[in-house]
Amino acid sequence: MLNTSADLAVVRVRHPLKFRLLQVSRVEPLTPHLVRITLTGADLRDFISASFDDHIKVFFPAPGEDKPVLPVAGPDGPVFPEGQPRPVARDYTPRRFDREAGELVIDFVIHAVGPASDWARTAHVGQYLGVGGPRGSFVIPQGFDWHLLIGDETALPAISRRLEELPAGTRVAAVLEVRDPSARIEFATQADLYTVWCYPDDADDRESTLLDAVRETFLPEGEGYVWAAGESAAIRAVRQHLTTECGVDRSRIRAASYWKRGAVAVHEAIDD
Ligand SMILES: Cc1cc2nc3c(=O)[nH]c(=O)nc-3n(C[C@H](O)[C@H](O)[C@H](O)COP(=O)(O)OP(=O)(O)OC[C@H]3O[C@@H](n4cnc5c(N)ncnc54)[C@H](O)[C@@H]3O)c2cc1C
Repeated sequence: MLNTSADLAVVRVRHPLKFRLLQVSRVEPLTPHLVRITLTGADLRDFISASFDDHIKVFFPAPGEDKPVLPVAGPDGPVFPEGQPRPVARDYTPRRFDREAGELVIDFVIHAVGPASDWARTAHVGQYLGVGGPRGSFVIPQGFDWHLLIGDETALPAISRRLEELPAGTRVAAVLEVRDPSARIEFATQADLYTVWCYPDDADDRESTLLDAVRETFLPEGEGYVWAAGESAAIRAVRQHLTTECGVDRSRIRAASYWKRGAVAVHEAIDD
């Protein structure tokens, strides 16, 4: 059956803003550099995540504190308690939500230094975390002729979720940059998946690893959609290549900085 343009239109969904206090119920290392944290709590009852690239704001307890300071949802966004320092917060992907079990799963990349990574490195059952959102979802239809998923380690949770959710037989290529082969993961998918793993081999030219791998990737005929997320400069370069040299229509690519070398807590949509 042919897809119509309406079938291939992305849909934006808004969700009521809510902040939840949750507790760690499981900690599982997936690789030496990626740890899976399962969170539970009564607050999850009405949690919604409609798309694989949704993001939640994770709030961490201040040093020496048990629980994070959490804002409440005001008419114009979060309202923080007066007289208390703002909590450290970072963006993460709801990797899986199981309403029946009341469990929310987040996969944390362990990198050199940063409050979120440091917390995940030593996380244990019973610890508290705060979670805000998702505030909305950008739902990309599944019915494209092909999908191209591009990312680094921070994008593995979203890409894994997308691959789990795509219907059997969907044509997908995934181009993934991880630090070394020990950081690779297995994907559970019924899609028809072609995977390219790449590793940075030159510390002075880190932006080009992913770009070089994408350059070698063949884009099939038909209606496709590209999703890309990871380090800011690397994803900018990839998007630029796809839109200018490969002729990918700007409406058929969603690209985002999930982090930026030398900066903290960066989230930028790349659409210029
Ligand atoms: C929408 C969205 C979804 C995301 N989903 C996930 C997810 O599911 N899992 C996940 O692990 N991350 C995810 N990220 C990325 C994560 O938010 C960032 O990596 C974040 O900066 C980590 O916080 P931190 O406190 O560890 O480091 P920060 O305090 O933010 O940064 C400290 C230093 O570490 C560097 N840095 C930050 N992240 C990395 C990294 N991954 N590798 C190497 N250096 C880094 C910074 O440039 C800075 O120099 C997501 C980001 C966005 C915007």
